[in-house]
Amino acid sequence: MKKNAEFYIVDFDRTLADSDKLTEVFVEVCEEYNAISREQISKADMDMKRLGDSFDTAGYVRDHLNNSGRGAEWDLLEKKYIHESKSLNMLLSGAAELLHWLDSHQKDYGILTYGNPLWQRMKLSATGFNRVPHIVLERKDKGSLISSWQREDGSFELPHELGGGVAERIVMLDDKAVSFENFPPHPSKGYWVLNPERELPSQQGSVPDNVERCNDLHLALGRLEHNIIDKA
Ligand SMILES: [Mg+2]
Repeated sequence: MKKNAEFYIVDFDRTLADSDKLTEVFVEVCEEYNAISREQISKADMDMKRLGDSFDTAGYVRDHLNNSGRGAEWDLLEKKYIHESKSLNMLLSGAAELLHWLDSHQKDYGILTYGNPLWQRMKLSATGFNRVPHIVLERKDKGSLISSWQREDGSFELPHELGGGVAERIVMLDDKAVSFENFPPHPSKGYWVLNPERELPSQQGSVPDNVERCNDLHLALGRLEHNIIDKA
């Protein structure tokens, strides 16, 4: 079985990708197709946020088309959205550098993303990350899931969606504190990547001791490089 020193888990929304821009382009494509009005989407989004849940943007529009007898148009709209997005840069600052670093250092990594499967898969395709091993989770506590992979000897048995094999430790980057709940202890390591000037209530919270806060991905990457030098 393949054995890695470490496996990197990177979050998608608001860590690698500009989620606001991904939603904005979707709304624009919906308007262009007269699928639904901007007002209708924002109202549904606000209603959902009041309930404290994440809004299933794509599912909402697909249901709306189905209910108005226009279900056949969904596939075209989805294709158009993915096509439009691919011509734009949807990555956050530092994301391209992080991915380049992971690739050039032959680090194994995967994406763990929380949200509605339809909308998450569309966004992953829209940014080309559907080619990276990934898991779409419908629960927020990623840390508990990762801890469930830990074996008696302390190593982690990686799920086949992330390429399988065993890793000695997990390194995770995520913008939400809740993602680190029950995250495995040292030598695993977390980087809570969140700019205090732009933080949202859903990103706030407390994190375990082995999780370091960084304002952006450039700083997180600097820490990753530093930690490797420390060990050398
Ligand atoms: Mg996120």
